Amino acid sequence: MPLEHSRIRTFEEYQDAYRRSVENPEQFWADIAAPFTWRRKWNTVLKADLVEGHNEWYSGAKLNITENCLDRHLATRGNKLALIWEPNDPKTRQIRYTYRELHQQVCQFANVLLNNGVEKGDRVCLYMPMIPQLAIAVLACARIGAVHSVIFAGFSSTAIADRVNDAQASVVLTSDGLNRGPKQIPVKRVVDEALEHCPTVRRVIVVEHLGWPVHMQEGRDVWYHEEALEASKSCPAEEMDAEDMLFILYTSGSTGKPKGVVHTTAGYMVWADYTFRNVFQVEENDIYWCTADIGWVTGHTYLLYGPLLSGATTLMFEGVPTYPDAGRFWEVIDKHGVNVFYTAPTAIRSLMATPLDNVLSYSLDSLRVLGSVGEPINEEAWYWYFTHVGKERCPVIDTWWQTETGGVMISALAGVSPTKPAHAGQPLPGVRPVLLSQEGQEIEGNDQEGYLAIKAPWPGIIRTTYGDHERARQTYFGPYPGYYFTGDGARRDEDGLYRIIGRVDDVINVSGHRFGTAEIENAINQNPHVVESAVVGYPHDVKGQGIYAFVICRDGACDSEADKPHVEASIIETVVAEIGKIARPDKIQLVSGLPKTRSGKIMRRILRKVAEGETSNLGDTTTLLDPGVVDEIVSGRK
Ligand code: ATP
Ligand code: MG
Repeated sequence: MPLEHSRIRTFEEYQDAYRRSVENPEQFWADIAAPFTWRRKWNTVLKADLVEGHNEWYSGAKLNITENCLDRHLATRGNKLALIWEPNDPKTRQIRYTYRELHQQVCQFANVLLNNGVEKGDRVCLYMPMIPQLAIAVLACARIGAVHSVIFAGFSSTAIADRVNDAQASVVLTSDGLNRGPKQIPVKRVVDEALEHCPTVRRVIVVEHLGWPVHMQEGRDVWYHEEALEASKSCPAEEMDAEDMLFILYTSGSTGKPKGVVHTTAGYMVWADYTFRNVFQVEENDIYWCTADIGWVTGHTYLLYGPLLSGATTLMFEGVPTYPDAGRFWEVIDKHGVNVFYTAPTAIRSLMATPLDNVLSYSLDSLRVLGSVGEPINEEAWYWYFTHVGKERCPVIDTWWQTETGGVMISALAGVSPTKPAHAGQPLPGVRPVLLSQEGQEIEGNDQEGYLAIKAPWPGIIRTTYGDHERARQTYFGPYPGYYFTGDGARRDEDGLYRIIGRVDDVINVSGHRFGTAEIENAINQNPHVVESAVVGYPHDVKGQGIYAFVICRDGACDSEADKPHVEASIIETVVAEIGKIARPDKIQLVSGLPKTRSGKIMRRILRKVAEGETSNLGDTTTLLDPGVVDEIVSGRK
């Protein structure tokens, strides 16, 4: 399939596609789906139900997503690079697979799974480093119709056990160990600990990566490389129903216990491919790099499925942005001639805090498009990215979406539609966002804000939360029946561009004025002493809610006690200048770190408890990166 199919090239084409997607969604999505490889075509394009949350796309169709990711390209792109792997240590060997080689690798892994008794519909959990075998294993599951559930390989054994048990997985794929910057971590040992509490798991397949000795449990554990000796490099793809489960993926846990989000085969496939090609405007010979771990939805849709469905070359990176130094991202871009680069604000902010020479010493000439995802990108980070990485030449696209949406929902299409710092922009074709009042009334017109909801199903919509549809119904469809509820608050500016202002639960109401956390943080982050901040509301006798700001200073800015009052006063001045007196923080606590999820998002619910003085029950903290910061924050509470 050519990259040009249903490709939007101009703003007029965007407007036209958008209009068609709203006027006749079934025709629109039938046209887009037509060129895929279908074993059987669908009976119905869409069965919509935004009350109970039973939405179906392409019902009756039969297909296999890996035939569309791999087999379909062999005739025209067989020798094209599909996957480039850049190792943690720049001095060690890269790995490159053409589409033909990747196809063989996936088939071989699929045969190993089959030989180990994995059947269609079985759940397979993957706890693996960012090595090619992770990508291959995910596709191998899809090849034979097993449901993959990738668990980010930084989670604790408790978090693994929770997910394996929730998914009732029978098989776990892992490795001996992993590299993360200067550290090496014995992954298999973490899995062994977890599996003491996972009665459903009968087989563990271990991929050798570091060459470390590991304990192999007799009758349960096998080495991949030994199993592969017997496994053929061809494997017919299992015929799947459009609505057969493709994967389960647990959300980041920013707002509570992670949810086991279920995506199915056909709708997810069409959505991943369409959004990838149009948002990033990838060309046939591009090198495309998404820095997300495959353990997050961004890695699923925009490292793996989207690029491969589209026949693009995708780069996979094992390491971290700061190893061996804080110029690593830029070194990789120059080394591979990366054209399209997609990362998260948390990475940009951490690199911004290091000397500018780390980025200025690379040419970055190959770059054409820069993307951001995961949280609102504040203006300061946006300008830094645009100026120093994109050299004011590359559009920065701020892509708003969720695990539950499967792919990008609101974003500029690179170079096609307007961008504006701190704004995600306009909805993709097929996406009908609305702003709701608390009572559920649609708020019309521009220059308005409200709860962000989506008024019609799109192909990538969440199908259920695994094993508990009632939770999905209550979370996403219950709050405003007839709408998919995002849990985020947003503003539609005077030009109709959307800006995400924070989680609905985090909106702060100061004397009747409502503020999103993102907008106050955005203001605080403009202060030259500040690297990053997080604000929450707390009960305030006079104002209803007061604003409590947790702030990380730039290196050296507030090392001495004497500097602190000066820095705090200066932060207040910045907020007053940026937003106004009403948004002035009531309390500022200078901290050395913020409680973040492993995907880099701030867990404001913990900070809210601290601000409220309720530190005895902080809720589910299993997805926290560094629980140690919580103790520091609690003890420094104002
Ligand atoms: P949980 O649902 O378990 O609390 P989570 O919401 O952090 O976890 P994800 O699905 O990884 O899990 O994240 C989706 C959320 O990330 C969105 O709802 C939004 O709050 C935020 N987000 C993602 N991209 C953007 C963006 N470009 N701008 C603003 N916010 C974003
Ligand atoms: Mg969420």
